[in-house]
Order: sequence, then structure tokens, then C-alpha cells
Amino acid sequence: RFITLEGGEGTGKSTLAAELEAALVQRGISVERTREPGGTPGAEGIRKLLVEGAADRWQPMSEALLLYAARYDHVERRIKPALTAGKWVISDRFFDSTTAYQGAAGGIDRATLDPLRRLTLADFAPDLTLVLDLDPETGLRRAGSRGDNEQRFEGKGLTFHQRLRQGFLDIASAEPERCAVIDAGQPPADVLDAALGIIQQRLGW
Ligand code: C5P
Repeated sequence: RFITLEGGEGTGKSTLAAELEAALVQRGISVERTREPGGTPGAEGIRKLLVEGAADRWQPMSEALLLYAARYDHVERRIKPALTAGKWVISDRFFDSTTAYQGAAGGIDRATLDPLRRLTLADFAPDLTLVLDLDPETGLRRAGSRGDNEQRFEGKGLTFHQRLRQGFLDIASAEPERCAVIDAGQPPADVLDAALGIIQQRLGW
């Protein structure tokens, strides 16, 4: 089983990923937890190129190409082998982040991004995607207070983050069999309960 967590800045994906791993392991499931951009040494190198420096270091199309280069490595060298070994894989971000960040928020249209995805991954996709939804002002405040590279995402402005949020919601409503939206404004324990409920209902364990 392959589960991805998606959402904007400060929505709590990383916290939820760690909690889900613990909850699944407790049920005897073997879990590989990973993240994007990154997840392999090569892809983590590309992550550095993406997240260090000013918000306008790259144009969205360059970012998309770097992200898919990293993703190919991540899928081939880590995600597919783990799935083949019978593990459940939880990834903090995956291809929906590119569709939302570089597409909906960055302005690249689907007619450009979708062929890139197909070229890189064919029809490989998550079994379940949990979209953590939160108003961007709250999310940016949370992310800023933990000391993330604020310059990178605050440099983009609030409207970027509003388009980003809408981008994730649009993905979820276009693919309701794969995706579920969780209100990330709830207390963390409620977010975890909601996520476990959806996993149980959709994937069983
Ligand atoms: O999720 P995480 O905070 O680890 O993401 C690292 C950074 O990469 C974020 O600041 C996000 O803005 C950026 N990112 C991006 N485009 C993506 C995925 C992540 O700009 N497709």
C-alpha cells in the first residue's frame, strides 16, 4: 500500500506521517516512511537545490523538471522496492505537490505537467492520498514559528498560497477514489483519528 500526505505549508504533514507510522507499526504493519522532495541521496541533493535560496531562484518549469528527476529516483530506488518487499509506504508529499505548487500556484498548465508525470511514472500512483487542508495564514504562521526557510515561501505572497490550497482541493475533488481531505485546523489527535479512520475504511489493515 502506498499512502501520500499532501498540503500547503504548516499543515502538519510531517507530524501526521510520523504518527501514522507509529500507529501502523503498532498494528503489525511494516512501514517505510519517506518524503519529497527527497527520499534518496540523489533526490535529497535535488531538494537542496530547490529549497535553498530565494523564492525566485527557479522558474516553475525548472522546479517541475527537478522535482520529476528526483521523483524518478525516489520511486525506482526506494518506493517500489519497499512495496515489493510488502511494506506500506507513507510519503510526506508526492506528485500532487508538483501539480499544486508548480501547476495551480505556479501557473504551469496540466497539459504540460501531466505528460511529464506519464513519462516519468507511467501510471504508478498512490493508493490513497490524504490532503491536509488549512487556511494559508494559519499554515504560514505555524511554519514560520518552527523556523522554516520563511523567505522561500513568504516571498511568494499570500495569493500563491491561496491558489496552492485551491489546487490541492481541486485534485481531491477530481479524484475522490484516491483522495480524501482532512481539516488540518483540528487538534493533532483529531487529525490522526480522521486519517486512521480513512485508511481503515479505504485500505483495511
Ligand atoms: O513539505 P516541506 O516543508 O518539506 O517542503 C519543503 C519545501 O519545498 C516547501 O517550502 C515547499 O514550498 C517546497 N516545495 C515546492 N514545490 C513542491 C514541493 C515542495 O516548492 N512541489
